[in-house]
Amino acid sequence: MRFAYVNGRFLPHGEASIHVEDRGFQFADAVYEVWSVREGKLMDADGHFDRLERSLGELRIPTPRSRAALEHIIGELLRRNRIRNGLVYLQISRGQARRDHAFPKQAVQPTIVLTCKRLDHAAAEARAERGIAVVTVPDQRWARCDIKTVNLLPNVLAKQAAHEAGAVEAWQVDRDGRITEGSSTNAWIVTKAGKLVTRQADHGILHGITRARIFKCAQDVGLEIEERGFTPQEAYEAREAFLTSATSFVTPVVSIDNHSIANGEPGLLTLSLREAYLGEA
Ligand code: PMP
Repeated sequence: MRFAYVNGRFLPHGEASIHVEDRGFQFADAVYEVWSVREGKLMDADGHFDRLERSLGELRIPTPRSRAALEHIIGELLRRNRIRNGLVYLQISRGQARRDHAFPKQAVQPTIVLTCKRLDHAAAEARAERGIAVVTVPDQRWARCDIKTVNLLPNVLAKQAAHEAGAVEAWQVDRDGRITEGSSTNAWIVTKAGKLVTRQADHGILHGITRARIFKCAQDVGLEIEERGFTPQEAYEAREAFLTSATSFVTPVVSIDNHSIANGEPGLLTLSLREAYLGEA
């Protein structure tokens, strides 16, 4: 049996529900986090908790449980679902209140939802060995992509466009013609000069926890990183390209808008970063 956690209770997945006037459901007035679970352990646990607290703070949603309490609940959820390899999803909304755009006048309890699912890391490994295709789409999102809200409609449409084009991910392009990030991943290239390039982490992208870890891995081997937006053209001509996220780690990109990247095979630097990341995890 699959279990979910809602507001203090572990419930059979199919019976777990929230109120129709939950502000997450009504307004996307909610934040979320996703942890990868490997061999029973949360990867980058602290980084994701730090970001969760920051997202809540930016939206002035009170932190409803301590980090230790959440870790305890997550551990129990994984145990009940017998998951050692997979992911944990956490959503916290501002809570339930009569529908009105402004914050509820009287304080309400935030809603907490936790689910988890099993993931086949071997399938992800096989995909990483082949590399994936991405396409570019216009970035249609709001001005605070650094806050991890459940307001994901542009990301949903971007991912769907990628799938309809036979690709795995969509890289979003801002009004200046520069790639910001993927619909659920951060975007990277290695230039012909051997520089790692990824978009600066301002309000225009999600500050990926895996992205931050790659900065550390790169630093360890003395690799320089340029934090700036790059154009699709620059990406087509790159020596290597890849994407990062908690659940896909470091995944080589071998085609962008049907342009083969270099010889169309995963790049060596990309693969060594993937290994370094998974080795440290
Ligand atoms: N960008 C977006 C838009 C995302 O949704 C994600 C996945 N949470 C990422 C980047 C990657 O972030 P992380 O490495 O923390 O999973």
